[in-house]
Amino acid sequence: MQRYFIEETVSLNETFVMDTKHIHHIKNVMRAKIDDEFNIVDKTGSAYAVQLTDLEPVTYKVTEKIESEVELPVNITLYSPLLKGDKMDVVIQKSTELGAHEFVLYKAERSVVKLTAKKEDSRLIRYEKIAREAAEQSRRTKIPGISFAEKLTAMDFTKYDLVLFAYEDNNLKGRSIKNVLSASAAHTIAVVFGPEGGFSEKEAEIFKSYENVALGRRILRAETAPLYALSVIGSYYE
Ligand code: SAH
Repeated sequence: MQRYFIEETVSLNETFVMDTKHIHHIKNVMRAKIDDEFNIVDKTGSAYAVQLTDLEPVTYKVTEKIESEVELPVNITLYSPLLKGDKMDVVIQKSTELGAHEFVLYKAERSVVKLTAKKEDSRLIRYEKIAREAAEQSRRTKIPGISFAEKLTAMDFTKYDLVLFAYEDNNLKGRSIKNVLSASAAHTIAVVFGPEGGFSEKEAEIFKSYENVALGRRILRAETAPLYALSVIGSYYE
């Protein structure tokens, strides 16, 4: 069932005019007809089944509340450096499917990609669209937040219950994510990944006081690492 995130709050049995940003999709991609059904998620994160009542303008009636919980019981924030080419698009799309709560794109010492503030703004629009479409397609009730950030040294990690530092040099001796989770009752979890060239020693130093985890024994590419971590976390909780 097609799902759309809308920017207002709806209530059962009421009729609403659809947000303009979804009209093209409803009319031209779905080729919807009166009485067709689809799902919406409103501003409060509640999902509903709705039925199309009019096409000019696109109007729907809210017919049923969908109670099933599809979100992970923990909030996972991924800290990733900006990756080269379309790799960031892939990480954002796939990590959204796998349940990520938020992305923080920080500047690693060995970051290959460097953007001006203006470029960051236009990138953000693209990444937000990718996240929204992935959330709609995977029938989530939350669109992950995305932001750009400065260096790891300037960041405040105290707001998280648990910080997992995915350090490639710990591939053979680091704890597994599963092992750390089983000894923790964390609700908010940050997972920090390095860039294509790995972490610098200075960055690795910051994380001495946090949990250093191994993502298996093999070294994964920067775009594979978050997907491994999220899959392990998902299979632990679900
Ligand atoms: N070029 C580096 C690897 C960088 S991999 C090297 O060969 O050493 C990119 C990022 O993925 C790493 O910084 C780390 O955050 C994560 N990563 C990849 N494999 C990992 C593993 N087995 N354990 C922990 N982290 C890993």
